[in-house]
Amino acid sequence: MRVAIAGAGLAGLACAKYLTDAGYTPIVLERRDVLGGKVAAWQDEDGDWYETGLHIFFGAYPNILQLFKELDIEDRLQWKEHTMIFNQPEVPGTYSRFDFPDIPAPWNGIVAILRNNDMLTWPEKIKFGLGLIPAMIQGQNYVEQMDRYSFSEWLKLQNVPPRVEKEVFIAMSKALNFIDPDEISSTVILTALNRFLQEKNGSKMAFLDGSPTERLCQPIVDYITERGGEVRLNAPVKEFLLDEDGKVRGFLMRGLDGQPDEVLTADLYVSAMPVDPLKVMLPEPWRQLDYFKQLDGLEGVPVINLHLWFDRKLTDIDHLLFSRSPLLSVYADMSNTCKAYANPDRSMLELVLAPAKDWISKSDSEIVEATLAELEQLFPQHFSGDDRAKLLKYHVVKTPRSVYKATPGRQQHRPSQTTPITNFFLTGDYTMQRYLASMEGAVLSGKLTAQAIANSNRPSVTNTQPIGVGS
Ligand SMILES: Cc1cc2nc3c(=O)[nH]c(=O)nc-3n(C[C@H](O)[C@H](O)[C@H](O)COP(=O)(O)OP(=O)(O)OC[C@H]3O[C@@H](n4cnc5c(N)ncnc54)[C@H](O)[C@@H]3O)c2cc1C
Repeated sequence: MRVAIAGAGLAGLACAKYLTDAGYTPIVLERRDVLGGKVAAWQDEDGDWYETGLHIFFGAYPNILQLFKELDIEDRLQWKEHTMIFNQPEVPGTYSRFDFPDIPAPWNGIVAILRNNDMLTWPEKIKFGLGLIPAMIQGQNYVEQMDRYSFSEWLKLQNVPPRVEKEVFIAMSKALNFIDPDEISSTVILTALNRFLQEKNGSKMAFLDGSPTERLCQPIVDYITERGGEVRLNAPVKEFLLDEDGKVRGFLMRGLDGQPDEVLTADLYVSAMPVDPLKVMLPEPWRQLDYFKQLDGLEGVPVINLHLWFDRKLTDIDHLLFSRSPLLSVYADMSNTCKAYANPDRSMLELVLAPAKDWISKSDSEIVEATLAELEQLFPQHFSGDDRAKLLKYHVVKTPRSVYKATPGRQQHRPSQTTPITNFFLTGDYTMQRYLASMEGAVLSGKLTAQAIANSNRPSVTNTQPIGVGS
């Protein structure tokens, strides 16, 4: 059976990979000339890579780790020391660390928190620990119920001192969803904390050894095409064409460079597009259905990813850093963290600017100027005096609508992978799965969609593999 999939982000590619395993023939249609969607990357005229986002893989990502294993590319994940490193705004240029010892969970996390005395006082740690007890005892059910509160509200309800939010959770919520704790749903932070506390290596981080497009997406494409599937770039789906029953009869493909539009038909159809363009493309009869109406509650959040090349080494830290600065979220010196971007003499900082709503429409030079001002706090030794670090070049990648904005109440708007239209399925990080809007969420959603298809439509082949979901 042929399955047409609109979108070659991680969800669309994972869906195609698992459909291939189950004996289907996927045809992935990607609007742009690059694979990966929100993990897409480009090479500039000097051969330097720049990316849509600084991407971190966590130990708590079972499905994406399984995918690396199945593609035999596990060695491309560069695991870092088990620690979380925060800048200290009150002492510019210094760091505070949460070091996880090599003991079972949750003790490694508890020891990491207790040993850090720079950011939280003992009474603050104890009050925060007490506040977390319901989440630890009642687990995911409780975490889901807390979707009605922002994380700021939840902290107040649990009597956690406001300094805990300021010191730790502004940085964490900006890293997880590019917004502040007064906007983010408690479910997002509690889900992450639960994974980090329940799994020994849950918060351990890895960087890919090169660009996600080449080092992760391409092997998935090779896997699919070697087994008879197809992945087409520059193939925008313009419209979902319906038959008289309201089912999909084809994807209308926009003709590029003066070519006429064409109809692509398949046995089954999947949208792996982000939720914002999907909403625009919904055919009129579907808009009346509650299942599709619920999507109105989801909308992508803006974010900006910057790459700054300097004339010297700014740091030798080989890890992700939480900037704790007003404009920036996380950052890393990619010349240390990523094999393909390595440079022993010069730094390339990749930085996430969030919340980005007031910056997304500003010019690249304004954004870079404001970022450099923040770097004076992060690297005072290199941005003061006569011998200041020189910016050699930069790239700014803006994503006006990235992952769905996870404000309180969003969980009820996330759709299942199965739709009321029997030959049409959804996949994507915003669809309902337990890993939020992330690479793990995207891969898991792709797998769940392939599973839903396999459960509802058996292809007429015998050598198929079951699709197992990691928890
Ligand atoms: C700055 C940034 C940093 C991030 N950091 C992390 C991180 O550290 N860790 C983590 O786990 N996650 C991170 N994420 C989130 C992660 O990138 C996403 O959750 C994930 O990649 C989403 O995958 P997806 O396949 O669901 O959607 P997308 O990647 O958005 O894929 C959708 C695809 O559909 C295509 N498309 C759209 N319309 C059409 C059409 N009409 N026809 C055909 N194709 C179409 C798009 O071009 C795109 O390729 C980050 C995201 C950003 C933006």
